[in-house]
Amino acid sequence: MNITVIGTGYVGLVTGACFSEFGLQVICVDNLEAKIESLTRGEMPIYEPGLDDLVSRNIRSGRLRFTTDVEDAIEQGLVLFIAVGTPPSADGSTDLRFVEAVARKIGQRIHSYKVIVTKSTVPVCTSDKVRGWVQEELDERGEKARFSVASNPEFLREGAAVADFMRPDRVVIGTEPGDDQALAILKDLYRPLFLNETPFVETSIPTAELSKYAANAFLATKISFINELSVLCEEIGGDVQAVARVMGLDGRIGGKFLHAGPGFGGSCFPKDTLSAVRFARDLGHEFSIVEAAIAVNQRQRLRMVDKIVAALDGDVAGKAVAILGLAFKPETDDIREAPAIDIIRGLLDRGARVQAYDPAAMAEAGQMIPEMQLCKDAYEAVADTDVVVIVTEWNEFRMLDLARVKELVSEPRLVDLRNIYHADRMKEAGFLYWGVGR
Ligand code: NAD
Repeated sequence: MNITVIGTGYVGLVTGACFSEFGLQVICVDNLEAKIESLTRGEMPIYEPGLDDLVSRNIRSGRLRFTTDVEDAIEQGLVLFIAVGTPPSADGSTDLRFVEAVARKIGQRIHSYKVIVTKSTVPVCTSDKVRGWVQEELDERGEKARFSVASNPEFLREGAAVADFMRPDRVVIGTEPGDDQALAILKDLYRPLFLNETPFVETSIPTAELSKYAANAFLATKISFINELSVLCEEIGGDVQAVARVMGLDGRIGGKFLHAGPGFGGSCFPKDTLSAVRFARDLGHEFSIVEAAIAVNQRQRLRMVDKIVAALDGDVAGKAVAILGLAFKPETDDIREAPAIDIIRGLLDRGARVQAYDPAAMAEAGQMIPEMQLCKDAYEAVADTDVVVIVTEWNEFRMLDLARVKELVSEPRLVDLRNIYHADRMKEAGFLYWGVGR
């Protein structure tokens, strides 16, 4: 079976590479020529563990290819995955411009049966819009080609995307009522996962679309919940990690996403929570719990700046701050909505100087904030600074040579926004130490 993935970003590239690994013929399309050229050479445009091997292997096997020729790719594929970005508009709603452009392109090109699958995260009823856009273009051409629309939301996590795609917690397939053909084709695509006994949820398209927002909004709420508790812990001298452990050991709650820190970021939670709130509002409903999660998250970032300022006795003007970690989480180069960006801007606004290091995300972050100084490693970043701040919990920051750090800094102060060090150990190493919620 030939499949075409339109949009070769984090999701499209991983989806295309993994389907080709399953043995399918895959074409990945993007309208960014430079991206396609580098992929064709086997160079990855993003940092994602395990992806380069997977891509090179499947290019060599002839099952995976990359192109900017969207028309040809549409003709070749029986299943057309839409995996373009769905960024937020100024009012929090989802900007569907890229999805519409692709849907119209499909309508302008098809003349035989296709299954058009939305993999991008889109508000409920977007697949109806996709159907409408494709049909309008078909009508314009007087073309009668039959097509199905379907929703197959993606739940992969950046940094573990390949493993998540290959061993997902579940696969969600939303099809129109009675569309057995589309359902059978999509199940066939994912057959290797069936054999692994991955749970499949076959449902209606609106339910599939909503389920993606439900999952992300819930996880974001869990993060804000523990961050809110971290404030209370700081007030009472408690330990939020112990509270989270007590909660997480309850099987009904689970321990994941209960880590207090600088708040959620990335390309999904911030925009998806806003979109869920906006979508609910359009239905005349307040999605109050998610609104609160968003508000707590914004406050949490500001609190992190205040925490750093407090660690410097209330004044950062003219002080040098080392920032370790820029990506919104470890094992990715993605800085979209990364807490580090807001924190650095907050510090620069207050007159601090920033020296930063991240193992993967420096190029983009440097363009976004040219005022900060980028360093070649953690030790260069901490040199002659008044406070060291751990913002992203990359493994290499978990085992810093503390004696060396102490030698290099002007002042031995460490603000650990990911709670990866123990207060006692830091004290022994001669540091003044601040975590989150303890
Ligand atoms: P991305 O920005 O990394 O990639 C999108 C790609 O689409 C870009 O390369 C862009 O050039 C391309 N594109 C845009 N318009 C195009 C067109 N007309 N023709 C061809 N290519 C086009 O985005 P992403 O992170 O991969 O996210 C894609 C979707 O998946 C979003 O809806 C996102 O919410 C969702 N999602 C993302 C993640 C994640 O972790 N990144 C996880 C699950 C779901």
